[in-house]
Amino acid sequence: MTSHLETRLNLPELNPKDEHFAVDAVNAVLTLAIDCGASDIHLQPRAAGWEILFRVDGVLSVRGTLPGGGSGDPVSRMMVLAGLPTYRSGTPMEGRLAWSGTEDEKRTQGTISMRLGVFPTVHGPRGVVRILRQQGAFETVSSLGLDDEQQKTLVTLCEQTNGLVLLSGPAGSGKTTTMYALLREIAAGKPRRSVMTIEDPVETLVESISQSELDPVSGLTLASALKSAVRQDSEVLLVSEIRDPETAEAAVQASLTGHLIFSSLHSTDVASALRRLTQLGVPHHLVRSGVRAVINQRLLRRICKTCHADQTHSSSDQTHSSSVRARQATVHATSDGCADCTGTGYQGRVAISQIVRLDTRDPVGEALADTLQAGESIQKMRTAAREQGAVDLHDMAASYVQRGVTDAAEVYRVLGKR
Ligand SMILES: [Zn+2]
Repeated sequence: MTSHLETRLNLPELNPKDEHFAVDAVNAVLTLAIDCGASDIHLQPRAAGWEILFRVDGVLSVRGTLPGGGSGDPVSRMMVLAGLPTYRSGTPMEGRLAWSGTEDEKRTQGTISMRLGVFPTVHGPRGVVRILRQQGAFETVSSLGLDDEQQKTLVTLCEQTNGLVLLSGPAGSGKTTTMYALLREIAAGKPRRSVMTIEDPVETLVESISQSELDPVSGLTLASALKSAVRQDSEVLLVSEIRDPETAEAAVQASLTGHLIFSSLHSTDVASALRRLTQLGVPHHLVRSGVRAVINQRLLRRICKTCHADQTHSSSDQTHSSSVRARQATVHATSDGCADCTGTGYQGRVAISQIVRLDTRDPVGEALADTLQAGESIQKMRTAAREQGAVDLHDMAASYVQRGVTDAAEVYRVLGKR
């Protein structure tokens, strides 16, 4: 790795005996994280200081260490900024803070909302900061990186006045981001529609929609909040996640009574998402009449354009087998990297989605609904969908590798083996 990279990746040398150590350390860590486009910061206490990790484009990596041995503690400093009582650092806590940095940073980036979670460890409190971006890479439906046909499908879904649209995928697959992009699409439309969200917790702030967060102290559940929101003259509702039978029932009920509902499920594909709903107690016929579409999604890191610009990609050479092409792409991405991609070889991400509609005569949706109703296994549901021409995430990822947008190693990291 070259030296200009290291200076950009590293935290400045700080003296733990300095009385401003904690303040300077927090300033340096937050400034560097924002500069790198990190979504999360981990301040991991060790016997002799703190290890600092950033999550960038979904991948966690160590970005430096802070020395211990003084009286200052950067995690306690973060707790002060978030208004948390530092004398209670032996219990897990969560708080929010608004960060504006130096006068210069405030002018260029404004105030950035962050969420701090503190957890006690043997070496002292561990802090994890989630940076809540008001503007991100996937602001609108058109910036998700989907093809024209899929964009059109999403816009059509946004125009509906009732039904349930489900996002499927593991944590960190961009489900929430896509739901926000859909809500922005709806909020920008005319005439204005009443949009509300019930989140646990709020992850991004969006203008012109009404966002709510569950307060753990109030005892309010997602299901009870959803039932109240329905009576708030709302037309479009986002419930961050369906994870219990009560929320599943409330979401389906609302979708059948003139509300367009967006929500997410922790499931690996469309078949398992539909099955999950029935496992949560939603009868087959209500899945069929309530669910408009399931969007199964993942995020793939894009190959950095800067450090791969001079390497010609041979994907146009049709005589290459796809495995040879994939191997070449792998070699490309593991190049030394550059300052733009902070040495990773990747920069930014692209969403890949399989969208299955159940509200049209789409043969794939019909096959899935039929096999679900017949009580078939997930495997049989998948086979039935493929027989009707379903294009799954592996198929889509392969086309991105072929076009040199991403590489086989990244596809393997995200999707595993077929
Ligand atoms: Zn690069």
